[in-house]
Amino acid sequence: MAFDLTEAQRSAREGYRALAAEHIEPFASQWDRDQALPGELFLSLGSRRLMAPTIPAAFGGIGMDMMNYGLFSEEVGRCCQSVRNLLGVQGMVAHSLLRFGNPEQKSRWLPRIANGETVAAFALTEPSIGSDASNVTTAATRTDSGYLLNGAKKWISFGMKADVFLVIARAPGGVSAFVVERGTPGFSTAPIPDLLGLRASMLGELTFADCEIPAANRIGKEGIGFAWIANTALDFGRYSTACGCVGLAQACLDASQSYSLERKQFGVAIREHQLVRRLLTNMKANTQAARLLCYHAGTLRDQGSPEAIQATMLAKYFASTHVAQAATDAVQIHGAQGIGSNYPVQRYLRDSKVMEIIEGTTQIQQVFID
Ligand SMILES: Cc1cc2nc3c(=O)[nH]c(=O)nc-3n(C[C@H](O)[C@H](O)[C@H](O)COP(=O)(O)OP(=O)(O)OC[C@H]3O[C@@H](n4cnc5c(N)ncnc54)[C@H](O)[C@@H]3O)c2cc1C
Repeated sequence: MAFDLTEAQRSAREGYRALAAEHIEPFASQWDRDQALPGELFLSLGSRRLMAPTIPAAFGGIGMDMMNYGLFSEEVGRCCQSVRNLLGVQGMVAHSLLRFGNPEQKSRWLPRIANGETVAAFALTEPSIGSDASNVTTAATRTDSGYLLNGAKKWISFGMKADVFLVIARAPGGVSAFVVERGTPGFSTAPIPDLLGLRASMLGELTFADCEIPAANRIGKEGIGFAWIANTALDFGRYSTACGCVGLAQACLDASQSYSLERKQFGVAIREHQLVRRLLTNMKANTQAARLLCYHAGTLRDQGSPEAIQATMLAKYFASTHVAQAATDAVQIHGAQGIGSNYPVQRYLRDSKVMEIIEGTTQIQQVFID
C-alpha cells in the first residue's frame, strides 16, 4: 500500500494546483452566482485533454492513471465543486463507453468528449427512483430499427448543457444503457435552478416522449445497463467525488487557518482559543485521513484490484461525511463572516452537503460497505 506520493506525483499535483488556481479558483464564486459554467471553460479544459484525461490517447485522452486523476480531482475540488462534478461526469460516461461500447461507438463519441467539443451527461435518477436505482422505470420498447424511449430523468448534472446523454432505461431484456443525442425528436430538457450547492452544475430534468433512437445507440447488450454499465460509471464517479471532497476539506482548512490568524477576539487571534484549535485540529486530521483513503483507493484502482470498489466506497463515505462537518466548522470559525459573501466558506458549506447525496447517499454507503 503506497501511502505517500512519488516525486513525479508531487510535481504533477503542483501542476494541477497551478492550473486550478489560475483558471478555476478566481471565478468559482461568480459561476456559483451565475448558476452556470462558461462555454469557454469546456473547450479550454478539452484543449488540454483534461475533460476525460483517463481515456487512452487512441480515443483522445492522455491515459492518466487513477492516482494522478485523484490528485487532479482533489485540486479542482479545492477550487470549484461544479467543475469537479463536470469532470467526474465526463469520466463516468467516457469510461462506460470505453468499457462497453463497440469500436464504432467509441470512435464516434469518445474523442469529442475528451476534447470538450461534446459534453456528456449520465442519466440514471428519476423523479420517483433515487437510491433504488436498479428499479428505473423509463421504458425502452423495441421498434423495427431501434428503441422508443418514454419516461423522465431528474437531477441530471449538466443536463442543460450536455450534447449526449447516457440514459439507463428498462428494455424488454432488462435494464439497458442508451446514448441519446440532444435534438433527437421526443427528447427535451428543463432546468432545475436555485439549488443549495453545486449551483453551477446546470442540472436538468429530461423527458422522453416517444423518443426514437437507433439500435446502434444501445451500449452493450440488453440487461447489463444497471449491474455493469451504471455501476461502472458510479464507481468512477465515487472516486472523483471522494477526491474532490478532500480538496474541498483542504479549502475549508486553509480558509479556517487563515481567518483564525487574522481575526482577534479577547485580545488574541482566535486560533489561540483552545476550542477553536480543536476544530482546526480535527479538520486537519480528518482531511489527511480522507486523503489517505483516496490514495489507497487510487492505488488499488491502478493495480486493477477487485478490492478497489469497496476501497472507493469507503473513501467516498469518509471524505463526504468529513467534508460536511469540516465545512460546518469552517463557517463556525468565521462567525458571522462565514455566512456572508466575503469569504468562500458559505459556498463550501452548501457544496459540501451535496457530497453526502451524490454517487450514493451516506446511508446507502453505510448499507453497502462490507
Ligand atoms: C447536485 C446533484 C447532482 C446530481 N447529478 C446526477 C446525475 O448527473 N445523474 C443522475 O442520474 N443522478 C444525479 N443526481 C441524483 C442523485 O444520484 C440522487 O439524488 C441520489 O441517488 C439519491 O436519490 P434521491 O435524491 O432520490 O434520494 P432517496 O433515494 O429518495 O433518499 C432519500 C433519503 O432516504 C435515504 N434512503 C434511501 N434508501 C435507503 C436505504 N435503503 N437505507 C437507508 N436510507 C435510505 C437516503 O439516504 C436519503 O437520506 C444528482 C443529485 C444532486 C443533488
